[in-house]
Amino acid sequence: MELKLAKKYALLDGIGDASDIVQKCVHCGFCNATCPTYQLLGDELDGPRGRIYLIRSALEGNTFSTRTKTHLDRCLTCRSCETTCPSGVEFGRLIEIGRNLLEQEQVRTIPEQLFRNLLRRFILSGWLLRLCFGAARTLRSILPDEIAKMVDIPAPVKRTPVVSHARKMLLLDGCVQSAAYPSINAATARLLDHVGISTVNQPQARCCGALSLHLGATAEAKRFMRANIDLWARELDNGCESIVMTASGCGVTVNDYGRLFSDDQNFRVKADRVSKCTKDVSEVILQECPVDIRHGKQRRVAFHSPCTLYHGQSVRGRIEDLLERYGYKVSQVHDGHLCCGSAGAYSLLNRDISRELLRSKISALEADQPDVIATANIGCLLHLKKRSTIPVKHWIELLVPEDS
Ligand code: SF4
Ligand code: SF4
Repeated sequence: MELKLAKKYALLDGIGDASDIVQKCVHCGFCNATCPTYQLLGDELDGPRGRIYLIRSALEGNTFSTRTKTHLDRCLTCRSCETTCPSGVEFGRLIEIGRNLLEQEQVRTIPEQLFRNLLRRFILSGWLLRLCFGAARTLRSILPDEIAKMVDIPAPVKRTPVVSHARKMLLLDGCVQSAAYPSINAATARLLDHVGISTVNQPQARCCGALSLHLGATAEAKRFMRANIDLWARELDNGCESIVMTASGCGVTVNDYGRLFSDDQNFRVKADRVSKCTKDVSEVILQECPVDIRHGKQRRVAFHSPCTLYHGQSVRGRIEDLLERYGYKVSQVHDGHLCCGSAGAYSLLNRDISRELLRSKISALEADQPDVIATANIGCLLHLKKRSTIPVKHWIELLVPEDS
């Protein structure tokens, strides 16, 4: 059905995409079957079809109500609905536009706006986040159990190899990962060093833009992205072959730079190049580390595939196969396609839903009593740690022999 777009939105960022996406939906409702919030709350407006209806109604000029805000805020942006949809509705892109609209219409109360702004400033600060992780680790004996588990003392970061090979790849630090578990990128650097690839960092890089984008701060997200595109394009000119992502939440966003800047004359070509050169670390390991090192000793691993990998990048089964090749025994996880409830800042903004999803995810992951739980995104890793009784690690750390 044709969308009668309200005049006031004619120049809104991404409005052409929104119109196309909304019109693709044939209202079949298949997506509701795999939407975690619909499954949990049973309300049509907490499923993708209902949310599309709400965004469509807003785009046609109907008032943005508090009810609309609530149902859009409850979406995890997990994109499980995209995987299910037979009509190819790109819901992730639509909800981004819907959230941008929400912020423009200023439906939020002042305290809500303040909280969301402070949260963004805190996570994006870098130094403040590092300071808080350090302080929480020192004080963990007196912190609530969930927080103490999340900030447990990581293994010391082992040596990071110096740049010595002709082949080079850029490794993205990530805002939260560099503060919480720098050991993840150090392990990646050692693995790639073994096969003759040096990793380089770009300390001036900004956040990939995912957090701002999810919180409806599109202009801020694009500012960060432009700065990164300029920096990373220079690294590619200087001989870096690829941009390697160890956090799937960042990977899915950088993969999308090409599309996000497709209308921008100055950045279109550079953004597209950056996206095309971006690889999830599992793709690099699969291509570059063909030798089986079976040091997993048949230890059992339950792998939680983050939505940003499973739905966002359609990477399914690759990491489980790699873990098997490295000598681990990978457990089957019931409803592996469902979100764990982390979803960027979601666990801080929608605590009840997030906790419920975490509870189900942990019981699915622990059902087979694995020795370790592995995942591929720092947000999921920290979130799973809150409730897990089993150690949780980034999967890449399981590939590095402990004595290396
Ligand atoms: S988004 Fe796709 S699956 Fe969901 S109602 Fe629309 S067409 Fe059907
Ligand atoms: S992105 Fe996830 S939570 Fe949001 S509507 Fe789709 S399936 Fe539901």
